[in-house]
Amino acid sequence: MEKLRHPPFSIKYILQVIGVAIVYYTVARLGLLLAFQNTNASPVWPPSGFAFAAIFPLGKRMWPGIFIGDLCVNLITFSVSKPVDSLTILMVSSLIAIGNTLEALTGFFLYRRFIGERNSLDHVADIFQFVFIVFFMCLVSALIGPTSSCVLGITPWSLYKIVWFTWWLGDATGTLILTPVFLAWAQETRETWSLERMAKVILLFLGLYLITQFIFGQWFEASVFNGQSYLLIPFLLVAIFLFGPTEVTMACATMAGLAVWHTIHGFGPFVAAERNTSLLTLQAFISVVQVTMLLLVAALTERQLAENLLLEKTKELERSNKELEQFAHIASHDLQEPIRSIVGFSQLLSKKFEGKLDVQSKKYLDFIVGGARRLQMLIEGLLQFSRFGKDEIKLEPVNFNQVVKEAMNNLDGLIQERQAVVHYKNLPILRAHYAFMLQLFQNLISNSIKYCDRESPHIEIWADEKNKTWEFSVQDNGIGIDPQYQELIFIIFQRLHGKEKYPGTGIGLTICKKIVERHGGKIWVESMMNQGATFKFTLPST
Ligand code: ADP
Repeated sequence: MEKLRHPPFSIKYILQVIGVAIVYYTVARLGLLLAFQNTNASPVWPPSGFAFAAIFPLGKRMWPGIFIGDLCVNLITFSVSKPVDSLTILMVSSLIAIGNTLEALTGFFLYRRFIGERNSLDHVADIFQFVFIVFFMCLVSALIGPTSSCVLGITPWSLYKIVWFTWWLGDATGTLILTPVFLAWAQETRETWSLERMAKVILLFLGLYLITQFIFGQWFEASVFNGQSYLLIPFLLVAIFLFGPTEVTMACATMAGLAVWHTIHGFGPFVAAERNTSLLTLQAFISVVQVTMLLLVAALTERQLAENLLLEKTKELERSNKELEQFAHIASHDLQEPIRSIVGFSQLLSKKFEGKLDVQSKKYLDFIVGGARRLQMLIEGLLQFSRFGKDEIKLEPVNFNQVVKEAMNNLDGLIQERQAVVHYKNLPILRAHYAFMLQLFQNLISNSIKYCDRESPHIEIWADEKNKTWEFSVQDNGIGIDPQYQELIFIIFQRLHGKEKYPGTGIGLTICKKIVERHGGKIWVESMMNQGATFKFTLPST
């Protein structure tokens, strides 16, 4: 497949390159304000961060912009201090610019290779990778810049190690501080910037300014808290919980800028007798705070994303459940009629040819009638099941003694036939849906009778109040349920026995579960094989 290519020198491209060069140059000049006097040694070198971030959206084709921007800064800085002749200045400036350009390209390549298209601020694992990439990519520029400066006689070899280290850490800190600001902004949309958010941001930066003055500046020099850099941590932590990645990364960058500013002007906790010592402790402080904040932002974002996903999935699940219920309702409703015809006509047929059919044909016809009846039961069960999820249920005071009494009346035929004994006493009056409760007790009582092999099934029903909930128990002396299947039986169509011995559809207990859960309770069974079963369910007291 032919790859899409950008035209090499379109006006847009040239303008973008010039734009990158200008912004790079401006950021570098601002960065130099943060350099110690009469040196180019800045504890934070923001252009590295800008260069790295600029090629994310615009592509690696932006390298000439970085190169030109950096070359101009070097030429101007060296021309002012004039440490060597013009040709050497041109050579060293070009070599440093090559180093800085390669640094950004290396970072870009590694980012795409290990993190890909993702925004690393959203994932804790990506932040670790991002930090490693930054420290690695800065080796490139730190290797080329100081080496060429020493080779060409601008910096004495005796200072090589220290210049190298400062260069590397300055670039790395600059990238750690500035690139996340761009990455965070890349995720912003205009709609998310409400007036309220802007007001909060202004308050945040006012607070940040005050606290940095308090800790690093001279306003509160006499105060006991002046110089206590750790005081920044609770402030930034609060910012993390109240704001998003954009505000936090910007706050960290501002904090870093102000801390450097005060330090180079001789104030704050990082000022030491040796300039280099203050530089290194400051760099270490800024980097550690920044990486910690980035990890926390990512952890919170990750949690937020997971919560959103969960919410989305729950909604999806609710929607598909509703659709399924609707489908079950429509399908079972529409199937009722044809099934009724099959049952009715096959029964008619059976009656009409009674005594005239041979044994085999009679057997076949009985199969048809039996199958059609089971199908009818199943469809009715499904229809009932689908009704429970549908609309809001209306609760009213329900006398449960009345409910059980009516359930027993409805099951009178079965109770008489099996000579079952049902006892109940002192059941409460609770807010519930009467018809659903009737259905619940009918299902439980009829199961207790059905799944009993004894001469006379015996059923006890009682209720106890425990911690603002009523716990109902329906106990039988039937065949019992193996503990390993006690959860399974509440799942639709799950049956533990063959339909020949105990006819049924496997829907009844699913309906019971649905009824109880719609009332805010839960249902379970306590039983052992051949020792009867006690079905228990709870309902809220109020
Ligand atoms: P059905 O009775 O139509 O099969 P249910 O959902 O009511 O469907 O019950 C699911 C399964 O749970 C039954 O097939 C049976 O194996 C078991 N079961 C239900 N109630 C009892 C009980 N009281 N004693 C023993 N087993 C039971």
